Amino acid sequence: MELVPFYQMMIKPPFPWKIRRVEVHPEIRRVDVWLEHGSGVFFACPECAEALPVYDHTPERSWRHLDTCDYETWLHAELPRVSCSKHGVRQAKPPLSDGRSTLTFAMERRCIDTLAECSRKGAATLTGLSWDEMDTVMTRAVGRGMKRRPPGLPEWLGIDEKSVFARHQYFTIITDLKAGLVHDVVDKRTIKAVEPWFQERKAKLESVKKVAMDMSAGYANVISSMVPQAEICYDHFHVTMKVNQAVDEVRKLEQRQMAEGDARCDFFRSRFLFLYNKENIPEHRVAHFQQLKEAAVQTGRAWAMKENFREIWHCPTVETAAAFFKKWYWWATHSRLKPMRAAAHTIKNHWQGIANAITNKITNACTEGLNNKIEKIKRDAFGFRSKGKFRIAILFHCGGLDLYPSTA
Ligand SMILES: [Zn+2]
Repeated sequence: MELVPFYQMMIKPPFPWKIRRVEVHPEIRRVDVWLEHGSGVFFACPECAEALPVYDHTPERSWRHLDTCDYETWLHAELPRVSCSKHGVRQAKPPLSDGRSTLTFAMERRCIDTLAECSRKGAATLTGLSWDEMDTVMTRAVGRGMKRRPPGLPEWLGIDEKSVFARHQYFTIITDLKAGLVHDVVDKRTIKAVEPWFQERKAKLESVKKVAMDMSAGYANVISSMVPQAEICYDHFHVTMKVNQAVDEVRKLEQRQMAEGDARCDFFRSRFLFLYNKENIPEHRVAHFQQLKEAAVQTGRAWAMKENFREIWHCPTVETAAAFFKKWYWWATHSRLKPMRAAAHTIKNHWQGIANAITNKITNACTEGLNNKIEKIKRDAFGFRSKGKFRIAILFHCGGLDLYPSTA
């Protein structure tokens, strides 16, 4: 069996490298392939690329390559070192891999493809690598992707808080609203945490035209001071969330008023139905939900108000939306439901930003889509050991980055 020419053809090592020896170990399903370079060839100094003769060789190094017929395949080579007059004795770049990875380019690409399709645990199982190796692949991929990203900031930015683990820990997610991508992830959600991010990009902030966010004051303060030319928009997703939260507060207050053993306690178990939009309530629960609304009158009313409020996003112009809101505002503020009244006031106080979102047609598709994607990453990531790793995973999956190693 002529294994050397076979592997020479399959692996195609770049000049001046060639396959020297191949060993197959069926008992452990493994193939080892040794590479060598021709004599008298020059190698480039890794710093200045000057072509230099071989000075000496490193001890043998190994790289995991793509499997051969399900046999784990390893490449081995002693790497030449060159003696550069400017940079001293340096190791030349290895064939088929970069200087730092223990995987070949081809294997690293395979890992990235696998990570993009399944959880980190799944990717580790499928590629036969460890969790830590997967971690390294992901971190390196995001690092090179962020470096390759064109300079400049998106014209339409989104800025949003995201709870990460338990115990009130947060990230600030900065998104490119037009591209539907996560632009960056900043630890914490305070002004103190977010402001330096904008400070560092001061020279590029001029290109930012619109910033979408929730109605909490923190982010708005940062944007007004750092990006004064940008229009602040309170988008569909965040405004709707505010109203939904108010419904839930009404629900909690009403629940507290109900004595234990009350016949209406069924309400407690089925409270999640009030979080649904009308069209999403499962058909077999519609009748039950009707009964619940009759039992929990206040929550039922708040829910109806919330459902009605959604119409605002279908208004064709800002003027019709304003007229619609005027009626809704009256309804909410006369409802004797404190949380609904508070939500109505908040919306009124932020009306200009909502009008901006309607005029600019900033839909919630992007924010909601990314939010769902991040939630999924969170579910897959029960093993994340740090916020840093979670940040990397968000950028890996939602950053739209060029992740592959360059084989040039
Ligand atoms: Zn040099």
